[in-house]
Parts: sequence; C-alpha cells; structure tokens
Amino acid sequence: MDFRQLTNKYGSPLYVYDFEHFKNQFNSLKDAFRGKKSLIAYAVKSNSNLSVIQQFGELGAGADCVSIGEVKRALKAGVKNYNIIFSGVGKRDDELEEALRLGILFINIESEAEMKRVEVIAQQLDVEARISVRVNPNIDPQTHPYISTGLHENKFGVDIESAKRIYIYAKQSAHLNPVGIHFHIGSQLTQLSPIKEASEKIANLVRHLKVLDINIKFFDVGGGVGIQYSDETTIEPYDYAQAILSTLSGLDVTIVMEPGRFLTANGGYFVSSVLYEKQNDGDKRFLIVDGAMNDLLRPSLYSAYHKIEYVTDANQSETSKGDIVGPICESGDFLGKDRDIPKDIQHGDLVVVHSAGAYGFVMASNYNTRGRVAEVAIENGESRIIREREDFSKVIELEEKFLK
Ligand SMILES: *Cc1c(COP(=O)(O)O)cnc(C)c1O
Repeated sequence: MDFRQLTNKYGSPLYVYDFEHFKNQFNSLKDAFRGKKSLIAYAVKSNSNLSVIQQFGELGAGADCVSIGEVKRALKAGVKNYNIIFSGVGKRDDELEEALRLGILFINIESEAEMKRVEVIAQQLDVEARISVRVNPNIDPQTHPYISTGLHENKFGVDIESAKRIYIYAKQSAHLNPVGIHFHIGSQLTQLSPIKEASEKIANLVRHLKVLDINIKFFDVGGGVGIQYSDETTIEPYDYAQAILSTLSGLDVTIVMEPGRFLTANGGYFVSSVLYEKQNDGDKRFLIVDGAMNDLLRPSLYSAYHKIEYVTDANQSETSKGDIVGPICESGDFLGKDRDIPKDIQHGDLVVVHSAGAYGFVMASNYNTRGRVAEVAIENGESRIIREREDFSKVIELEEKFLK
C-alpha cells in the first residue's frame, strides 16, 4: 500500500481500509460454516463507516447493532431489516419502539427488566417482539479484563437460571416470541476452549428449553474472535466452526455470529506524519506525530499494542528506542511506547499504525478541537474517500448558533 501517495492525495492523519482484506476475512468465516445455516451479523460498532457496512452487506452479512443509530446506519447501508440484530445492556424505550417498528430479526434481551419493557412496548404497538436472551455462561475468556464480558462479575447478560425463567415467561406472552439465544464472552479471544465450553453450556440450555416446547431457531455465538496485533496465536475459522458445530448435535438452528474485529481490524491503517522529535532528560526520545489519542484511542485506553511501520528514506536498521506521541495535552496520548524508531527519521515522514480498522475511527473524538480525520477505502487497486475530514466549521457547527 502506497501510504505516501495516499497522504499526498487525502492529507494526514488518515485512516485507510483495505476492502479486499475485509472481503477475504468475511469469506473465510462464511466458508468455514459452508453447508450449515448461518448468518454473519457484522458488529457495526467495530467500524461503522457506511461504506464499510455496505461492503459487508453486499457480501451477504447482516448487522449486529448496539444502538438504534447503528440499526439505522445498517439500514441506510443496505442491510435488510430481517438480517439486523439489536444488542446492548441499556436500550431506551424509544430505541426498542423503533426497532420493533422496523421489524428487525430479533432484539437481544440482557435482563428480566428489559424483557418486561419490550413486552409493554410490543403490546402498545400491537406486535409480537422476536427476542433472544443473552446468557452469561460464566466462563473466563482469557482476554483483557476491559473486553471480557462472559463472567458473572461483568454487567452483560443473565445467568442460566434467570434465562430459563425469561424463556418460560416469554413463551406464554402474547407479545414476545423467543426465537434466539445469545452469548458473547469477550473480545480478542485467542483460545478456542472458552468458546467451545460456552457453546456447550448454551446448547444444553437449548436442549432443556426444547423439552419445555420452547424452540430456539437462532444460536447466536456472539463475536470476539481475536486477531494478530503482534505475536498472538489466532483462531482459524475452520477450527472455530468445528468447535461450535460439535456442540450442536441434534439441534436444528441457524448459527449467528457477530464478528467485528476479526473482519475489520487488520484491514485498517492509521497514518500520521512526523512533526518533531525531542529528547527529555538527555536520553528519553519522543517522536511527535500529527495523529493522536483522539484519533486512535486504543493505545491510551487499553494499553493496546499496535505494530508500527515507518515510511521514510532514513536507514531503518539504525534505530533507537522512543515513544511515539501525539500533540494532545495528556501524558496518556501515545500511539506506541518504547519502540525502535529509525534514528534519522525526518519531519514529514510517515508513521503507519497497523490493525487500526476495528475500534479505531469509531472511538475518535474532537478533543482539543481536532477535527476527525478522513477515511479512505482501497478496492481493486483504487482509492476512494468514504468519509471527509472534519474541518473547523464542522466541529463547531452545533454550538456556533448559540453564541450571544
Ligand atoms: C462488541 C461486540 C461484538 C463484536 O466483538 P468483536 O470482538 O469485535 O468481534 C459482538 N457482539 C456483541 C454483543 C458485542 O458487544
């Protein structure tokens, strides 16, 4: 990928997405479930750009959404309502109402209280709400605590006993139709065993429900398949599929997946330009670039490691350690710490952060009155802009009219 050419054309900093990579990731997962009923509901929150959602939609993906805004994005991008799922621990009444009016595939219920709200709203609208219950299987996903969701100590889902109560209640309700079951134990999973263990527990619950004449049609295994940021082991789609399928014998269900990071992370690059360099305390080296934590928050928020590539004429084998930092007034503003940086890197050289396609731009803010950067797609060797750079007038747009 010619990052120099791209920044010449679109400016810096910049997000660049390799749509071929997105497509290959999608197809590898789809192929792993070949011959089985399956739906890949792309987790829109990982990269919500309309053109990204559109591309997955064209490949046959549905959408897993965590706000009504995401549901509307998915529809706008061409995803069909019957392939859209609405998840999340705290859905407002107006969001539930709109989701029911839009006739999406199902709403993932995360608590008994939420089920009751959905029932009331469905009754008011005189519709039957298709629901799925998010079950918390209490399994340690062996990932970062901030992105672990499948333990009872996390806020997500309900325990198995509560889930049974919810299904029994929903079955006899005139306005609820329990069509699915859902679990999502965490993100950036690199081990298969927790996924398999969770799937087994939930499949057993499905069998139990069947005895009660509650027939689950959608077996939603969530997202969370990890990717390689540095040297993590990763899960192969084929092994992933086999692990899940092996738990489902005797069950006639459509397998729903909600991958985000797996589809988008490694197809994305965050490109920024070198501004200055300085040395504090005589030996601590800082490379100051024009990209910052407001553009890419993961390093600051999760101490996430991202591979960094330099586009420079400097000799890249002569390096010294240093931090790559942004211009924001926070010590936590960095893209990489203690990295090998070319010794004579120059003003204007490029620093390219890899694996930035997921949870990158979507977490961007206007902190320090910085406009959010442009997003560019690469497809069939051609580049095209898919989101304009925000200029100053855009950033102040919603405040300006209130000046006295
Ligand atoms: C965040 C999330 C996903 C996607 O997670 P990835 O790790 O990006 O695959 C899927 N389902 C739910 C319910 C989520 O909250």
